[in-house]
Amino acid sequence: MYCSVRAGRLNRKLLEIYKIVECRLHVKVQKNELLKDSPLLDNFGRQHSYLRISLTERCNLRCGYCMPEEGVQLTPSEDLMSTDEIVKIARLFVEQGVRKIRLTGGEPTLRKDLVDIIAKLKCIEGLENIALTTNGVVLTKKLAYLQRAGLDNLNISLDTLNKNKFETITRRKGWERVMMGIDLALQLGYSPVKINCVVIKGFNENEVCDFVKLTKDKKLDVRFIEYMPFTGNKWEMGKMISYNDIIANIKLKWPEIYPLENGPNDTSKAWKIPGHLGQIGFITSMSEHFCGSCNRLRITADGNLKVCLFGNTEISLRDALRAGCSDDDLVTLISAAVKRKKKQHAGMLNLLNMENRPMILIGG
Ligand code: SAM
Ligand code: SF4
Repeated sequence: MYCSVRAGRLNRKLLEIYKIVECRLHVKVQKNELLKDSPLLDNFGRQHSYLRISLTERCNLRCGYCMPEEGVQLTPSEDLMSTDEIVKIARLFVEQGVRKIRLTGGEPTLRKDLVDIIAKLKCIEGLENIALTTNGVVLTKKLAYLQRAGLDNLNISLDTLNKNKFETITRRKGWERVMMGIDLALQLGYSPVKINCVVIKGFNENEVCDFVKLTKDKKLDVRFIEYMPFTGNKWEMGKMISYNDIIANIKLKWPEIYPLENGPNDTSKAWKIPGHLGQIGFITSMSEHFCGSCNRLRITADGNLKVCLFGNTEISLRDALRAGCSDDDLVTLISAAVKRKKKQHAGMLNLLNMENRPMILIGG
């Protein structure tokens, strides 16, 4: 009698455990099914949660590594994405799993509706982060408004700490304003303020340690970017300095520097010097690509979806939108492009011979 009661209890317990396991398995299978069906999942298992939107092809600087000397053919303004089109497309991407949007260009602060765009993006449920990449020239005038509208993160590009060299590389004035913009960003509480510095041999490699010194007392994250080839930027192998060479140079001065742990989709390899408030990082697109964990998609100012910075296949979301495509059809279109994304870019030397847009028309 006692035995059969115990056996009954045991069976009930086993049944309960079985049900829990079955239920968990079911949920897991369902989750995997969902993931498999996700429109932003590509054929190599990369889920895309980060969208970079270029707002303009125009710029108030003319950086030699970005804008071809002869300039670029600008798209007529009616063919650029409008505020409403940008917000509609952004919402569609967020509904499919995008959690972070970066606004870039050209120079995004030249766009008159920038505050409006940020405020409208801020209202999209599910979007967790809005970031901006800017050359910083007009930040002292605009940053407070951008922050009030909801700008979460800020990257400011600066390749030299020398005013004359700034004017050489950008072919324009503005160095003091950029420096003031960086200080304002810190004062307004952006933490860290990220600084993008493209390192070019014969131009600024001798300033690397000066940039590192900036991180001592300021909460800056200086990211050294390997010089990348794009149409019209006169890239040469000899002008590129690799991550390994730059870090080796920094170690001579700060042997105590140590690497930080990186997030799964980080493109920057982070390092820190003990006692420094800020940190440094390296974007190694050329010497050690990070295609395997790429979670980024890009939309150009004229509304083309680019699934890879270095790939030249594009589809026009603007045309689809203007032709009256339904949201479902747009998602199908986007998904098909994502599924065609290649495993990795073509490699440093092959990129040289590939036709792609100049960087200014992509949005870095
Ligand atoms: N105008 C803004 C700015 O300069 O930050 C945003 C657009 S810009 C194209 C975005 C980033 O791309 C900048 O940090 C710039 O330094 C980087 N960039 C442009 N051309 C590059 C190249 N050839 N190699 C590496 N980075 C590049
Ligand atoms: Fe303009 Fe930025 Fe390109 Fe320089 S890097 S030319 S600031 S878009």
